[in-house]
Amino acid sequence: MAVAMKTFRVGTRGFSDVVDITAEVSEAVTGSGLGSGIALAFVAGSTASITTIEFERGSVNDLRRALERLAPEEADYEHNRKWHDGNGFSHVRAAVTGAGFSVPFQDGRLLLGTWQQIILIDHDNRARTREVIVQMVGG
Ligand code: ZN
Repeated sequence: MAVAMKTFRVGTRGFSDVVDITAEVSEAVTGSGLGSGIALAFVAGSTASITTIEFERGSVNDLRRALERLAPEEADYEHNRKWHDGNGFSHVRAAVTGAGFSVPFQDGRLLLGTWQQIILIDHDNRARTREVIVQMVGG
């Protein structure tokens, strides 16, 4: 059993911007030299998340609208009253969608469904550059 790690950066526009990171995670697994195991894609930070969706315009827009209904940007947040950074909605959306996504791999290939992509969502209220950590355990 071995452990490998790779990081990469993603530029985002914030406000629940959705970026497909499947290729980068796949390259991390290929580059690790590991055959089979589990890869965790994780984003450090309390206003971003990593999850999975069918990455096509309709699904992405549906997800963004669902997040807006769940935690509207203009709603009242205790976080904003205390910290005045205006991103109370960002923290709630990030908490609900999660900071990491795990996927098994075999023969160096991610075992994703055909229409299942890995996405980073940046919920913050400004453009950001995010660092994604891919931690792999396998052999
Ligand atoms: Zn905040």
